[in-house]
Amino acid sequence: MAPQRQRRHAKVREQRRDFAHRLTTGWARAHDLIAFEDMDIRPFTRSRLAKSVTDAGWWMLRQMCSYKAQRNGGMYAEVKTASTTQQCPECGRTAYPPLTLKDRTYRCPCGHTEDRDVNASVNILGRAP
Ligand SMILES: [Zn+2]
Repeated sequence: MAPQRQRRHAKVREQRRDFAHRLTTGWARAHDLIAFEDMDIRPFTRSRLAKSVTDAGWWMLRQMCSYKAQRNGGMYAEVKTASTTQQCPECGRTAYPPLTLKDRTYRCPCGHTEDRDVNASVNILGRAP
């Protein structure tokens, strides 16, 4: 790789790291509990989603959240991913038919309706110890 290109890559890497530090410091200060999905990103790294998943610095974010939560007297947890998108946090039902990636809203027969990602987040928090 050309030296100029290497410098550009190093600069972008440093900007991402700086952003991740600011983000995770804010989270650790504002919240007693930070929960992540224990998501195996390896399948994504072989797919078209690879760039966005690796760009997100998933591992770096998790690592920073873990030590910063502990440092601030909070808790950090990783929970199993199974059905976090498919489950209703109100009544416990599992979506049928299952939501596909195109379904952006979770709608349960019990009346609970929520954005797909918010619904999954509520389930993740609910599973944290
Ligand atoms: Zn429900």
